Amino acid sequence: MTIASPGDAVRTACPYCGVGCGVQATPDGRGGASIAGDPSHPANQGRLCSKGSALGETLDLEGRLLAPRIGGREAHWDEAIELVAERFRAAIAQHGPDSVAFYVSGQLLTEDYYVANKLMKGFIGSANIDTNSRLCMASTVAGHRRAFGGDLVPGTYEDLELADFVVLTGSNLAWCHPVLFQRLAAARAARPEMRVVVIDPRRTATTELADLHLPLRPGSDVALFNWLLGRIEAEGAVDTDFVTRHVADMPAALAAAREDTLERTALTTGLHPSDLRAFARLFLGTERVVTVFSQGVNQSTAGTDKVNAIINCHLATGRIGRPGMGPFSVTGQPNAMGGREVGGLANMLAAHLAIENPEHRAAVQSFWRSPTICDRPGLKAVDLFEACADRRIKALWIMSTNPAVSMPRAGDVAEAIRACDFVAVSDAVADTDTTRLANVLLPAAAWGEKSGTVTNSDRVISRQRPFLPPPGRARPDWRIICDVAAAMGWRAAFDYARPAEIFREHAALSGIAARHGAAFDISALADLSDAAYEELSPTRWPVPRDDAPRERLFADGAFRHADGRARMLPVHHRPPAVATSADFPLILNTGRVRDHWHTMTRTAKSARLSRHLAEPYAEIHPEDAAAAGIAAASLAEVTSPFGSLTVRALVTDRTPRGSIFVPMHWTSLWARKALVDSIVGAETDPHSGQPESKAQPVRIAPFRPDWYGFAVSRSVLEPGTAYWARARIAGGWQAEIADNSIPEDWSATARALLALPCETEVVELADPSRGGYRLAAIREGRVTAAFFASRAPVAVSRSFVAGALSADEASAPSPGVVLAGRPGRDVPEPGATVCACFDVGVNTIVDAILREGLSDVASIGEALGAGTNCGSCRPELASLLAANRAPVAAE
Ligand code: SF4
Repeated sequence: MTIASPGDAVRTACPYCGVGCGVQATPDGRGGASIAGDPSHPANQGRLCSKGSALGETLDLEGRLLAPRIGGREAHWDEAIELVAERFRAAIAQHGPDSVAFYVSGQLLTEDYYVANKLMKGFIGSANIDTNSRLCMASTVAGHRRAFGGDLVPGTYEDLELADFVVLTGSNLAWCHPVLFQRLAAARAARPEMRVVVIDPRRTATTELADLHLPLRPGSDVALFNWLLGRIEAEGAVDTDFVTRHVADMPAALAAAREDTLERTALTTGLHPSDLRAFARLFLGTERVVTVFSQGVNQSTAGTDKVNAIINCHLATGRIGRPGMGPFSVTGQPNAMGGREVGGLANMLAAHLAIENPEHRAAVQSFWRSPTICDRPGLKAVDLFEACADRRIKALWIMSTNPAVSMPRAGDVAEAIRACDFVAVSDAVADTDTTRLANVLLPAAAWGEKSGTVTNSDRVISRQRPFLPPPGRARPDWRIICDVAAAMGWRAAFDYARPAEIFREHAALSGIAARHGAAFDISALADLSDAAYEELSPTRWPVPRDDAPRERLFADGAFRHADGRARMLPVHHRPPAVATSADFPLILNTGRVRDHWHTMTRTAKSARLSRHLAEPYAEIHPEDAAAAGIAAASLAEVTSPFGSLTVRALVTDRTPRGSIFVPMHWTSLWARKALVDSIVGAETDPHSGQPESKAQPVRIAPFRPDWYGFAVSRSVLEPGTAYWARARIAGGWQAEIADNSIPEDWSATARALLALPCETEVVELADPSRGGYRLAAIREGRVTAAFFASRAPVAVSRSFVAGALSADEASAPSPGVVLAGRPGRDVPEPGATVCACFDVGVNTIVDAILREGLSDVASIGEALGAGTNCGSCRPELASLLAANRAPVAAE
């Protein structure tokens, strides 16, 4: 593998969301790299969001797994590989191929995914390989297959820019796919006549762009789109010619849709009839419509029906396969699409072929020259871990993912992994909730060290290129998998020297799949030389070998069912699987925040990203908060039948009455008890197996500690109190703290919590009557740690106190000023970070809006720089403008 020389820019792809932005990484020769957007990449054209821009801050080796470990001791690769192979061989010999399983990840590269799938399905002979993409977009896959006869995303990112009307449903695009949101916002600014409707129970950063926000009741999307389909029929908007030639089963779909009358839909969705009519007017009156959907649609026990309800409206109007129109699923992970292409889901074969089809199975087995082939779907994620719990799975290999945190009923999943006889985990990170449960740890190369390809949400295959050498004994995932396959006796079939060889095989198999009717065809890439693979430019599939003109998908109205027609599905509203009750009266919605990614193993390394939201929280409507006795910024306990969380209450009317929102990111490494998936149930969609992650009945109650605290330190903080949440800051760590029982000796408590050596010089300030106490630790006149405690939530400026650790010599505040908890009267206090790129706080922005009469996001950028780099904070700037716009002076 050729690694770039220091100073040479390497074109690669961002490892976070499904937008799949191109990145230019320039290694610095010291293990780091500077990061910039790749102007030549079609997905982002040089843009990056806050997470992408901060990639350079996540490259250090702290926390990396650098050598194989067996039972906690360091081991040689040969020993670890042989042990994994032996335990899998023994389980298969004794209990059959279905007694073993792989749980893989949308973080894997396509080449990794391909060999994992080949090993399980063609050589072990089971389909027990599933992926964390099951939690993300399995309902879309099932919906696509039902409607189109294949898992095919019809649209491209350009379609969002060409559309006259964009519907965003179940998608906080501004935070979860920021660069795509920026492209849409730019298109909207260039064509103000473009209309945008956001369908989401919450008011999010994305709704800042909306002409109309439809805060529908959680889980009621089918009713909404059924009603829309009924309007399409009633208003004569069906494209009869298109439907006659290209669509089947419309009558049944229309009959189902007619059941959702205006009155019934208003009742089901909670939306006002006038808003419903306004939405229908826009949809019916606009030819170029794109409907973007994401996890808010997919993560539901009715997810597949929701997807088909959306697609039905596009099929009925013929708005598909043409520029600026179509249903468009955006994926959560960087290579969810690549995983779908190689068959990384337990119910897919490879190259979009079907396990249930004997001809498909024979074609794949013959191509692989494999001794066997799975003949039925394997265990989907939720079932897979249940099979571990009841010990049907004897050997489990988890690759590049953290199911002990990210699966619903995460606590039970952790127990299930623990119950499994043998667990191997490949990961780049040494200590995660899942690696703690492994018998064998296999050190995987990380982003920046791996070579391969990924496919983004609009079917563009991009190269991920290495720009750093793998540290220690870390190896790329494909190599680890092939080593195990070889040790299991299949060396010849897994004897790849480099990822280009795997990619060529994958591309060649797609050509065979195309002969069986699959649209996924990249056979034109099957003969790429190693050099051409290295240089491969972003390429949208299909790329068939015959070099036929590459039309957009479905431009010819040819769908992939045997008769060439798409299917409209009769779908009916089904409420979430579990209803609220007197004990659990609120609906818990889960999701992402702007600046963190998944379980924070990378983004939490960046102090800049951690500043945006430094603590787990529950968004709750003011009336629900008042009813529960929860004050703003206090702590709250969120409880479901499966457990409870302790998080900060964020009281806001952005979340509707009856719902709360808790982000998915905080693990036991970052907070005492904030693992949201530990309290989410595991009900799944009957078609896709995707769990319902956005409709868990819960209750909320105040968490009333005896005292609250806040601490900063140059050393890692491990508070061990009843509540804590920690984050990195420049030059150290911060922690929010709360505990029961007031300490008798505050000084000893503070010193223990900050792990201060006895000889540390400190200044202290105590106010026993009000239960207040403050301590600053000093070395050579500088504050190195500080602790604040109070009976009420601690009222100090976090940004000021945290900034004291990293302030330069000249501007470092004195210990006395740090203990005061905020800067002197003449020194501005920036407040919580809004713009991570330029470190601009909320107080600075509001002050500038009011003082300078700023009236738009661009003028904030001119005044403060905020929003002028990655642009991820622009929706929040717009929100601050709306809330604080300077009053117009009366004449
Ligand atoms: Fe990465 Fe952000 Fe682009 Fe997503 S939008 S691929 S997180 S830079």
